[in-house]
Amino acid sequence: METKQHKILIVEDEESIQKLLAITLQQANFDTILAVDGEEALEKVLDEQPDLIVLDLMLPKIDGLEVCRMLRKQNIETPIIMLTAKGEEMDKIVGLEMGADDYMTKPFSPREVAARVRAVLRRTGERGQSNEKVLVSGQLTVYPERLEVYLDKERLEFTPKEFELLVYFMKNPNRVFTRDQLLQAVWNYDFAGDTRIVDVHVSHLRDKIEENTRKPRYIKTMRGVGYKFGE
Ligand code: CA
Repeated sequence: METKQHKILIVEDEESIQKLLAITLQQANFDTILAVDGEEALEKVLDEQPDLIVLDLMLPKIDGLEVCRMLRKQNIETPIIMLTAKGEEMDKIVGLEMGADDYMTKPFSPREVAARVRAVLRRTGERGQSNEKVLVSGQLTVYPERLEVYLDKERLEFTPKEFELLVYFMKNPNRVFTRDQLLQAVWNYDFAGDTRIVDVHVSHLRDKIEENTRKPRYIKTMRGVGYKFGE
C-alpha cells in the first residue's frame, strides 16, 4: 500500500509502450501522466511536479538524454528511470552520468516496471526536500555538491577523479562495472588510456575508505569482470 499516491510521468512516443506503462503503473496504484516528446516532458515536469519520470531515450524534438541533462542542470532532482532499446548499451552509461537513477531495457515485463519504480522511489525518498543529493553507504557519507566525503565523522580528502569515481560507484550500488565502463564513465570517452588507471584509483580509494583493503567492504573486485560497489 502506498501512503501517498505517487505521480509518475511517462515520456514515450510509442503508443503501445505508453499504454503498457500506464496500465501497469496504474494497476500498481500509481497516478500516471504522459508526455510524447522531450519538449512536453520538460513542461510537464514543471507544471505537474511528478514524483518520478520514466523517460524513453529516443524521443522527438529533445531526446531523453538531453531532457535528463537539462533537468539536472536546473537542479531538478526528480528521480528518472531511462528506457533504452537493446543495443543502446553505451547510452545507459551516459544516461547515468547525466543523472538518471536507473534504466530499463526494452522489452521489459510489467512486473519489472512496477518493481523498478518502487525501488527507485524508495532509494530516492529523502530527495526533493533539499536540492543536494546525499549518498550514504555504511559509514560513508558523500555530499556530491559540496565535494565532501565523511567516513563515520571523519572528513576524507580525495583527488577530483577519486571523488568522481566514488560518487559514480555510490550512485550505482551493487552494479558490476567493467574497467572499460568505469573508464568511459569517469574519464570520459575520449580518453584512450590504459584501464589500469581504474585499478590505481580503486586502490587509492580503498586505502582511504576501507578498514581492511584485503577484504574490502565497499569496493569489491569482481574477478575477471571489474568492480562493484556495495556492502
Ligand atoms: Ca522512442
